[in-house]
Amino acid sequence: MTRPTKATIDLTALRANYLWGRSQQQGNALAVVKANAYGHGAVACATALADIADGFAVAFCAEAIELRNAGITNPVLVLEGCFNLAELRQAQQQSLWVVIHQDSQLQDLETASFEANSLHVWLKVDSGMHRAGFALEDVQAAHKRLTECPAVASVTLMSHFASSDEPDKQTTLRQIKAFEEATRGLPGARSLSNSGAVMAWPQASRDWARLGILLYGADPLPHPIDRLTPVMTLQSEVFAERWLEAGEPIGYGEKFVTQARTRVGLVAIGYADGYPRVAPSGTPVSVDGEVTRIIGRVSMDMITVDLTPLLSAGIGSKVELWGKQIDVNQIAKAAGTISYELLCNVKRIPKEYI
Ligand code: PLP
Repeated sequence: MTRPTKATIDLTALRANYLWGRSQQQGNALAVVKANAYGHGAVACATALADIADGFAVAFCAEAIELRNAGITNPVLVLEGCFNLAELRQAQQQSLWVVIHQDSQLQDLETASFEANSLHVWLKVDSGMHRAGFALEDVQAAHKRLTECPAVASVTLMSHFASSDEPDKQTTLRQIKAFEEATRGLPGARSLSNSGAVMAWPQASRDWARLGILLYGADPLPHPIDRLTPVMTLQSEVFAERWLEAGEPIGYGEKFVTQARTRVGLVAIGYADGYPRVAPSGTPVSVDGEVTRIIGRVSMDMITVDLTPLLSAGIGSKVELWGKQIDVNQIAKAAGTISYELLCNVKRIPKEYI
């Protein structure tokens, strides 16, 4: 028996999620495949989407070049990750679109010689998140400088939301207003929405959406609307079992003590595989399609689960850690994090594409 642990990636669900996300707003849609497509495999996901995606977005140049080397010819936008002149040149050579978010990049474009009309740039406006982007009062001047650069073929105006996944907050509306005021009168396409905004803030819809987490079927909103299909199923098997009497501790730190006679199943997945170590006893897990719970601490390569109520489960039983039966958001909540982080952390185990 080889280690029965894998992430199954449902590319049909990925395509359906992309098409659904794009249909929820008026514009084109970039599929955000940074961080190895949120842990799902960037080349495989981009290849599966290539014939329907209007373009892709990645975090930095090397991620974009990985896609180009794999034969992806769609537009690829490099978000904040063009760090120096050499990378701007690389972006130009590979026909990448680049986000320009600070003055040093503008200076590089102005002082270095580039082929005329060779770069499609996205000017990033800081509409209130205060992470990256030009301050509101500097946007008009930055736009003018960009349009005067011979290298620049087009300028798209973009911004990013701090709280689009919180429909009860007013932040997103304030950011839209600030963006509108700062960019008033400027020509060019616009891009504001990420997944949360596509799903909760139709007012933000512009020429381009940037779809990340919704592609992977993890609903970013507090009250899921059940329109997305999970793409990743993280799965393993029970590979050992034992009975313990009441009062016996399980695992590191003896954090769980049996209250009654308990049948414990050992499952071949741990925090080195991306399952969160902080997931407490009681976190749901599915065994042969029935929901039970983790008992004891998550170890590096294995976890212990309660098989007591599952009469027919035992060695070889199929375990789903998250996927179509166990919502990754449930595990994220139990671990005090977000689905994004859990998915991105799936690195060590093999992926099977279906
Ligand atoms: N746009 C930018 C600039 C981002 O940084 C991200 C993700 O971090 C996205 C879009 C996609 O966001 P989401 O995964 O919430 O759709």
